[in-house]
Amino acid sequence: ASGRQDRDREVNIQVIVRCRPLNEEEQKLNIQNVISCNEQRKEVTVLQGLVNKQADKTFTFDKVFGPKSQQRSIYGHAISPIVYDVLEGYNCTVFAFGQTGTGKTYTMEGEMRFKGGDLLAEAGVIPRAVCHIFDTLEARKTDYSMKISFFELYNEEITDLLAPEDQTRFPEDRQRRPISLMEDGKGGAVIRGLEEVVVYSPSEIYSLLERGSAKRRTADTLLNKQSSRSHSVFSITIHRKESTVGNEEVVKCGRLNLVDLAGSENISRSGAREWRVREAGEINKSLLTLGRVITALVEHSVHIPYRDSKLTRLLRESLGGKAKTCIIATVSPSSLSLEETLSTLDYAYRAK
Ligand code: ADP
Ligand code: MG
Repeated sequence: ASGRQDRDREVNIQVIVRCRPLNEEEQKLNIQNVISCNEQRKEVTVLQGLVNKQADKTFTFDKVFGPKSQQRSIYGHAISPIVYDVLEGYNCTVFAFGQTGTGKTYTMEGEMRFKGGDLLAEAGVIPRAVCHIFDTLEARKTDYSMKISFFELYNEEITDLLAPEDQTRFPEDRQRRPISLMEDGKGGAVIRGLEEVVVYSPSEIYSLLERGSAKRRTADTLLNKQSSRSHSVFSITIHRKESTVGNEEVVKCGRLNLVDLAGSENISRSGAREWRVREAGEINKSLLTLGRVITALVEHSVHIPYRDSKLTRLLRESLGGKAKTCIIATVSPSSLSLEETLSTLDYAYRAK
């Protein structure tokens, strides 16, 4: 939903859907494919009739990417225009939202390693955005500075994925050092002690990216697959000197947040069973609040509940107002995920 009308009303939320292919195991087991994507018409159809007697359900989004879509094409069609806005001084956020196992991390990170400084075909949004930004700034031959941060939010607790390792601790918590939030005086918050690394070359970023994403994976195995319940936030902040107008030097500052959200099954399940609401609510306060913030923005509510969770406090400057938001809803084509897919699509559709 881009274009003039939205610009005038100052809501810049784009919702796109990506459906992953059936994996090898699902193919071996002859799992039924119940999702049909029409990229031209920007439609996703859930073929419920194949499984139960219900009528098929079609949803229209801003963009739709089918199971054959390549990482490069997602970036080029959906993300690259956003990066252009960041370079123009806007704050933008891209969220990956969906059930665990549907490709959120694949879409956002994919292959984070570089081969001889080149992107690999499986590289996701984060490494592509980093390269794109560097290449563009270098080509413009202007002065700029760029810093990055990468953290994880689990159970409203923050772990810095770029922090240097603390060798004095036990191996288990060497990976995860909780840090705290500080009010920014504008109703949002910043993280006290978060590593913000100034980077001067793509190669520096490459090693940081690998380190951060490896740390996430290690922590994952150490602490029992927390990733399905944690959010990771990768941010790039750019200060760029614009060509001087008269004697005035114009500096544009933009930030891009790339967010891999906790599995959406966490919220839908809690909705289904009353007694679980509280537990899931505490663990996924940020996911629930993000949904409420986006709904409030779309509905032009007077009160936007940014303050209700850490994630929304941290992203406040990048959500609503002039900031641009892109939600990539990821789904599985498997008939076994039908219910979860419907709830992801319903949820994503409400953000439009
Ligand atoms: P999530 O982060 O949503 O839990 P993952 O990104 O870890 O899901 O994806 C689960 C598995 O499916 C991974 O092995 C990933 O490589 C694979 N996968 C996800 N999306 C795609 C895709 N579009 N094409 C090929 N493989 C994919
Ligand atoms: Mg993941």
